[in-house]
Amino acid sequence: MRALYLAATRKVELRGMDQPQAGAGEVLVKVAATGICGSDMHGFVGRSPRRQPGLVMGHETHGHVAACGAGVDPALKGQRVAVNPLVACGQCEMCRAGRQNVCLDWYLIGMDKVPGAFAEYVKLPSRQVLPLPASVGDGDAVMIEPLANAVHLVGHAPVHAGLFPTAAIWGGGTLGIATLVIARLRGIRVVAVIEPNPKRAAVAKELGAETTLDPKTQDVVAEIKKLTGGRGVDLGFEAVGFPICRQQSAAALVRGGTALLLGIDHPETQFDFTDLVRREIRLQCSYAYTNRDFLEAFNLVAGGQIKLERWIDILPLEEGQAGFDRLANDPGDRVKIALKP
Ligand SMILES: [Zn+2]
Ligand SMILES: [Zn+2]
Repeated sequence: MRALYLAATRKVELRGMDQPQAGAGEVLVKVAATGICGSDMHGFVGRSPRRQPGLVMGHETHGHVAACGAGVDPALKGQRVAVNPLVACGQCEMCRAGRQNVCLDWYLIGMDKVPGAFAEYVKLPSRQVLPLPASVGDGDAVMIEPLANAVHLVGHAPVHAGLFPTAAIWGGGTLGIATLVIARLRGIRVVAVIEPNPKRAAVAKELGAETTLDPKTQDVVAEIKKLTGGRGVDLGFEAVGFPICRQQSAAALVRGGTALLLGIDHPETQFDFTDLVRREIRLQCSYAYTNRDFLEAFNLVAGGQIKLERWIDILPLEEGQAGFDRLANDPGDRVKIALKP
């Protein structure tokens, strides 16, 4: 089968590869389309120790079940399915508590040594797939996994954030947009999305951000204070991973507010903890999603409540290099670029 290999830094290559076989308890999925994730981009630009040359990346995927391994209900064969690519062990104390995102023994397809979905076929345990209605387009289907991250993130907002909580979101990329959509569905007022790319900022505006701020030309914290009558926001969602964004997401909060940190990029960030303690600011990190979060994102997309397809491009797998290059250089108003084998 054809698969897109990470060949070297900033180079992906289409090669032939043995088709995987579904083992006991597994399904083989014929891939329909796979989104390029920010984490795949980190591998592409040579900044991910867990995505090294030689790997077939890709995890934001869906397709049709092509084969069922031993012990799997044969009725699954031929079904169109969404794929939850985060394979938790199901046995450890975290899994038993429903916290598959912090499973003590998990893996993701398309990371470390596990082949991913920038390929014609991918295999994984049958419990990872959900039947996907025909009404959902390929572009919306690839957004289920990023949306699951946002469901988990927004789920960390404390109940004491108030009846009409306000939020600001740092980043108008895939995860910033996913967070905006989920926050709005949960009744959170998004007073500002902070995004320097004007095309992406325009998408955020269209999806319900009350204002967008350009961090290159505006004093973000002062503007957010102004927009909230000097109060600050209840929730600061950080979907970038830069120190300045993390710091601003705490600084722009009302007393007692919560910064929710999702972005992974720079490892270190300095905080004035005297200020944070005195204002009882909560810093809440968020990682991936539980099975329940994934199901919620799936339901929102399958039920037609979220439609982002017009901002998503699907390129043939052969044009993988162009897709990665575009994301690395200027994605414009594209919320996601996906590859179709
Ligand atoms: Zn992803
Ligand atoms: Zn586990």
